[in-house]
Amino acid sequence: MQADVIVVGAGLAGLVTAHELTSRGRKVALVDQEGPANLGGQAYWSFGGLFLVGSPEQRRMRVRDSSELAWSDWQASAAFDRLDDEDAWAMQWARAYVEFAAGEKRSWLTSHGIGFLPTVGWAERGSLRAGGHGNSVPRFHVAWGTGPGVLEPFVRYAQQAAAAGLLTFHHRHRVDELVVDGGAVCGVRGQRLAEDDAPRGVATSREETGPFELTAQAVILTTGGIGADHDLVRRHWPARLGSPPSRMVTGVPAHVDGRMLDISARAGARLVNRDRMWHYTEGLRNFDPIWPAHGIRILPGPSSMWFDALGRWLPDPCLPGYDTLATLRYLRTTPDIAAYDHSWFILTQKIIEKEFALSGSEQNPDITGKNRAAFLRTRLLGKGAPAPVEAFKRHGADFVVAGTLDELIDGMNQLTDRPLLDADRVRQQIEARDLQITNPYSKDSQVQGIRNARRYLGDRLGRTAVPHRILDPAAAP
Ligand SMILES: Cc1cc2nc3c(=O)[nH]c(=O)nc-3n(C[C@H](O)[C@H](O)[C@H](O)COP(=O)(O)OP(=O)(O)OC[C@H]3O[C@@H](n4cnc5c(N)ncnc54)[C@H](O)[C@@H]3O)c2cc1C
Repeated sequence: MQADVIVVGAGLAGLVTAHELTSRGRKVALVDQEGPANLGGQAYWSFGGLFLVGSPEQRRMRVRDSSELAWSDWQASAAFDRLDDEDAWAMQWARAYVEFAAGEKRSWLTSHGIGFLPTVGWAERGSLRAGGHGNSVPRFHVAWGTGPGVLEPFVRYAQQAAAAGLLTFHHRHRVDELVVDGGAVCGVRGQRLAEDDAPRGVATSREETGPFELTAQAVILTTGGIGADHDLVRRHWPARLGSPPSRMVTGVPAHVDGRMLDISARAGARLVNRDRMWHYTEGLRNFDPIWPAHGIRILPGPSSMWFDALGRWLPDPCLPGYDTLATLRYLRTTPDIAAYDHSWFILTQKIIEKEFALSGSEQNPDITGKNRAAFLRTRLLGKGAPAPVEAFKRHGADFVVAGTLDELIDGMNQLTDRPLLDADRVRQQIEARDLQITNPYSKDSQVQGIRNARRYLGDRLGRTAVPHRILDPAAAP
């Protein structure tokens, strides 16, 4: 046996697992198909937003949260409907996780040196019903350092454990098979892959240089999701979301290939929840891609108007940042738009400055660099959009910028194979919305939502534009 435990996958999950084991004196073989440049996997690219309940950051922002409220939200979002089978475990896990997030999670993170921004983000504001999907309150705690900041201690522990002889890195080792003996998994087999000096995130060669086999008394798989393999995504796409788009962008590097799922099923593992996939609907093509079909997600504030491909304002709860799966379902199942792979946000310069954040560590250099002064300057005090957002506005293939609505619709029509939008029809809808801005109250749920958001200090300071007419020339382009 080469180790007490083989951990397959050196992403954040694998690194944390390795730390839990080596800190108890266990010997770990940490196996990954990628090389040292990719240590930490996806988490390096992530925004580092963490779910915490009843935190000091929330209290300082005057958010009253509780494990009771979070558990109610969690159950509504999860919509457990297989409680006599796989959901029995899911529910117990979820309950324990909410208690962890309301209890020891924050002190566990801070004990590893991870700290948080003072403002708390409000992700997935929900389906507009108390018993439906979504976060009733802001809970998205972004770590200083974003994903790399969350990773840093666990990379350090792994290197220290390696120096102490407790951990062995097996880089560029791709597992193709689990070894089963007497009903127990006791090892892994696979291929060594050729060295590749590609920078982090860039797809690497799959050239094989020879087989390997490792054995241990336990094997833990932390091999991540399926997002980079669109065939796999399409194969498991649930009927309730209609048909998958013919063209998608990819939020994750190529190594998030999902291969290990079928490999573990062949060895007898029982896979659950394959149909319960999560997709973000607001994906943009990265004008400066790192991995194939690199997509970036907009983390939107609540003010942009969201239209379908034919120029119709989306119905509730398909509002920016509210309910991504309901929006996806609407776009993929409404018969006359399901053939189109896109929808549109229409917004103003005032909205983009305050409300567009782009997900990912490299899109948020101020937070990733733990530069508190730059964070204050660009997000809370400064004028103009943060530089990465401005760069997307200027260079992104999916952006159209114009001084008037007619010019805007003209530019949007030029981005599709044939013109699909009628300027007068779009204008009527925007004018109707703009009439709702005059009073501090409104019959329109999105306008109500904007005002509701601004009652939350964090949104008012940094994430929700002062309500204004979309067609106000002073807010243009
Ligand atoms: C841009 C972006 C923003 C994000 N923002 C957030 C956020 O704000 N909050 C949040 O909670 N999450 C966020 N996420 C998601 C989060 O980063 C991931 O869910 C998490 O990092 C996954 O970690 P993991 O260790 O499970 O998997 P991964 O990081 O995918 O690691 C799996 C590892 O397994 C290896 N592997 C796979 N198959 C094999 C095999 N057969 N043999 C050997 N090795 C194999 C892979 O090479 C990889 O290194 C974001 C992700 C991205 C990309």
